[in-house]
Amino acid sequence: MIVGAGISGAIVADQLAEKGHDVLILETGVKKDFSFESYRDYLHTFYKNTVKIPNSTYPQNPNAPQPLVTDVGNIEDGIQQFNEGSYFKQYGPAPFQSTYTRAKGGTTLHWLGTCLRMLPTDFKEQDLFGIGKNWPINYYDLMPYYRKAELEIGVSADVEEQAYLGVSFEEDYVFPMTKIPQSHLDKKLTEWTKNAVFEYKNETYEYNVVSTPQGRNSNPNPKYNNGEGYQPVGAVGNPDLGQRCEGNSACVPICPVQAKYNALKTLQKAVNKGVVINAQCVASEIQYDDKTGEVTGIKYKEYEDFDALQSDENCTYVEKTVKAKRYVLAAHAVENAKLMLASGFKNKNIGQNLMDHPVLLTWGLAPEKIGAFRGPGSTSGIPSLRDGIFRKDRSAFRVEIGNFKIVIVIPTVAPNYAITQYVIFPCYFFSI
Ligand SMILES: Cc1cc2nc3c(=O)[nH]c(=O)nc-3n(C[C@H](O)[C@H](O)[C@H](O)COP(=O)(O)OP(=O)(O)OC[C@H]3O[C@@H](n4cnc5c(N)ncnc54)[C@H](O)[C@@H]3O)c2cc1C
Ligand code: SF4
Repeated sequence: MIVGAGISGAIVADQLAEKGHDVLILETGVKKDFSFESYRDYLHTFYKNTVKIPNSTYPQNPNAPQPLVTDVGNIEDGIQQFNEGSYFKQYGPAPFQSTYTRAKGGTTLHWLGTCLRMLPTDFKEQDLFGIGKNWPINYYDLMPYYRKAELEIGVSADVEEQAYLGVSFEEDYVFPMTKIPQSHLDKKLTEWTKNAVFEYKNETYEYNVVSTPQGRNSNPNPKYNNGEGYQPVGAVGNPDLGQRCEGNSACVPICPVQAKYNALKTLQKAVNKGVVINAQCVASEIQYDDKTGEVTGIKYKEYEDFDALQSDENCTYVEKTVKAKRYVLAAHAVENAKLMLASGFKNKNIGQNLMDHPVLLTWGLAPEKIGAFRGPGSTSGIPSLRDGIFRKDRSAFRVEIGNFKIVIVIPTVAPNYAITQYVIFPCYFFSI
């Protein structure tokens, strides 16, 4: 059995079902069928919400709260404050300021869909830069899995453009779909940054505007899979919709037509193969044998009513336990750790080494009209500083060019706190 029906749980479930296993998923989100109307309800929630943030499409569920970007308050005396009523209570030096979604389909419901591969150097930072830890595997070990993931998600990109900073592909590999066309803004930036260089610690780096690999439908590449081609996956419940990205920049918080991949697509496949999803079930405890450490069951609270609070006075849930041959936690990195700690797991490493990509927004004024809100949220980035000897002192970073807003890239180096992580600088350009 699996806890969580996000992309991780969905892929595990689908692959196990493919091999003939019986699979049950416990999912905290509300019961929803796979009809398009059911998905469309999210749009109505979004329209009604005055605050337009990644989770404003997915109702706050008192039975399973989720973090919101509006939880993040001011910085006082150098310490990040969180607003009253925030889901998280964080006291550490580098608080998690992002979010995730506790609904069937998980966080891919509102992800942007950027599907970058890691660089070979990312796997041996300790050897190369004397920081962090080396991975026990390398880029080449992951290559076949990238290939599988790019098929499952349906990634649109051109291999020739993605082969930079040591990233390589198997001979004859092509992505399932050709790249999403770069926006007018991307083209302008390419023009404006031509011959521009960035100098840092006696090294010179060029600005190369490169298109972004994306989990959204473009034109299938006829060369895919040795000429077999690829069939884009449209909206669940209405597969004729979303066959191609319509370029209306609504990707976060929701793609209205599901041209952007979300885990509902994999979940539906899995359910067709016999996977059972029990929604409105919040896993609350992992039961295990103290002596052997073996997991013996998962306790969960099944709530009846979306609005019913799980309090002692208004207790409208029933507690149950499920037992299985194998257990998979796929409830999101933060919720997995929470569940293990709440269950009394003693391993000190639980919840440590959580990595995210801190984001610094930068705006600029363009000298001419550059046409905002055309294309998906982002179609290109400047990856030149994803690697370099400077990583001994500073985190690698990538500039993400945002089509969401109407532009100048201000190169700046990442602060020290994120030394082993990527920092993304989305840049929004506007014209007047
Ligand atoms: C705004 C935003 C944009 C992003 N854009 C990108 C991007 O462009 N590219 C990229 O690679 N990544 C992106 N990410 C990150 C990416 O979406 C997540 O890393 C990924 O979706 C996590 O998948 P998951 O399956 O581990 O968890 P989730 O997708 O969060 O799924 C967890 C599931 O478990 C369920 N669950 C939680 N707790 C319980 C419980 N106690 N019991 C039962 N079920 C439970 C949840 O309801 C959910 O269905 C973005 C994230 C955000 C917030
Ligand atoms: S641009 Fe529009 S159609 Fe394309 S992925 Fe984003 S929201 Fe969907």
